Amino acid sequence: MITIKADRDVCQGYGNCVLADSTLFDIDDDGLVVLSSHTVAPDGLAAAKRAAYDCPSEAITVVEND
Ligand code: SF4
Repeated sequence: MITIKADRDVCQGYGNCVLADSTLFDIDDDGLVVLSSHTVAPDGLAAAKRAAYDCPSEAITVVEND
């Protein structure tokens, strides 16, 4: 299973994650990241990793478990 976490305590609302995958990430009324799911389908892994890589605050963590 692939799980994903977004740390709202360090998110600064840049929105790069939404550009990487708007089906998984959104920005709420407080200007902070929200996830539509805490798991990622295998075909969404590349976009999730791109979001984590592109986040200037390093707020996104993708964990690949066996
Ligand atoms: S890219 Fe990072 S800092 Fe920007 S909204 Fe997404 S989680 Fe927050």
